[in-house]
Amino acid sequence: MLRVKVGKSLGVWDWSITNCDACLLEIEDPSETVKCNYCGATFHPDCYKNLKNTKSSCPKCRVSLYE
Ligand SMILES: [Zn+2]
Ligand SMILES: [Zn+2]
Repeated sequence: MLRVKVGKSLGVWDWSITNCDACLLEIEDPSETVKCNYCGATFHPDCYKNLKNTKSSCPKCRVSLYE
């Protein structure tokens, strides 16, 4: 069951347990994981939105997530 898409292209879904690279907490619902297009860092949709809204860069690869 795929949920609402956040951002642009989301890349491949990863169904293993992952941690959010922004808040470092476990992502409990993998179907809602948002990935960095460049390094594959995983984020909660809300964390990804926060990064974008604050014009921050990806914590892993430092690419700007702000469009
Ligand atoms: Zn998070
Ligand atoms: Zn990245």
